Amino acid sequence: MPSIIIVGSSNTDMVITAPRIPAPGETILGGSFMVAPGGKGANQAVAAARLGADVTFVARIGMDMFGDEALRHYSEDGINTQYIVRDSEAPSGIAMIMVDEKGENAISVASGANMHLMPEDVDLAEQGICTADIMVLQLEVPYETVVHAVTQANQAGVPIILNPAPARTLDAELLQQIDYLTPNEVEAELLTGIQVVDDTTAAEAAQSLLETGVGTVIITLGAQGAWWATEHSSGLILGKTVTAVDTTAAGDAFNGGLAVAIAEERALTEAIQFACCTGALSVTGIGAQPSLPFRAAVDTLYDSCNPIKA
Ligand code: ADP
Repeated sequence: MPSIIIVGSSNTDMVITAPRIPAPGETILGGSFMVAPGGKGANQAVAAARLGADVTFVARIGMDMFGDEALRHYSEDGINTQYIVRDSEAPSGIAMIMVDEKGENAISVASGANMHLMPEDVDLAEQGICTADIMVLQLEVPYETVVHAVTQANQAGVPIILNPAPARTLDAELLQQIDYLTPNEVEAELLTGIQVVDDTTAAEAAQSLLETGVGTVIITLGAQGAWWATEHSSGLILGKTVTAVDTTAAGDAFNGGLAVAIAEERALTEAIQFACCTGALSVTGIGAQPSLPFRAAVDTLYDSCNPIKA
């Protein structure tokens, strides 16, 4: 069983779906409410666990009922929670999400304990890092903690996937240590200054990121699929045709799938195919973690998937 360590955020998503998103000072009735576990780190951990990996999640949550519930959910998905720290001061991370009839959303996040995840918390997980096949990180926890975790993984010879989300600039020192960088179009533009609108611009942005010292660049392109590039070759993996209901956490599903396939030592293009299948299935259901697919469904879609356009 592949072993994956994920260092990142844990949130509780409070989602109200209403006819429209209220303007400042306005109150709108007629909405429906859903609460579900979320946060990019947690979503990626759950995605990888549902695909059959042995997942260890390093995170910080509060001593509140949201933290209790999050832990319960992660355990239900078979995730190793031994390195999740309970913060005695900060509350658990909360995302207030408003979705309108067209699926547009407005999100406000109170990061809470996520912003207290410290390099020392990563050190506590040293054993978990050394025995992992791959480490996965995002950018919803302090940057210094991400840098520290990447350095620790590198020293232990553990390959690293960095999903640079939400978008922000990154130091050359960090990029040089990344084996797989997985921005979406918006993040790729912020990192390179190149607006990604098609294969040509995706190739240009990927090339620019390779020049920073990243091993493999994979730019996710929503329904279009993903553009990948290494020093030696590059290509497009087509998106899988599905009926999209809610695209929340597509990128998280993709990263979870990619981590599992790489940890299983699949060839790069096969691993990206597998990740695209995971991302595609996640958009067919509502919510972040509730819509993350299980292994059998991903394998079935993978077996019937499109040929690779090199
Ligand atoms: P993010 O959620 O980070 O913005 P993307 O929207 O690029 O990421 O989606 C990540 C991956 O999920 C894509 O590379 C693709 O494989 C898959 N995906 C996303 N949206 C769809 C869709 N509408 N149909 C099929 N696959 C999708």
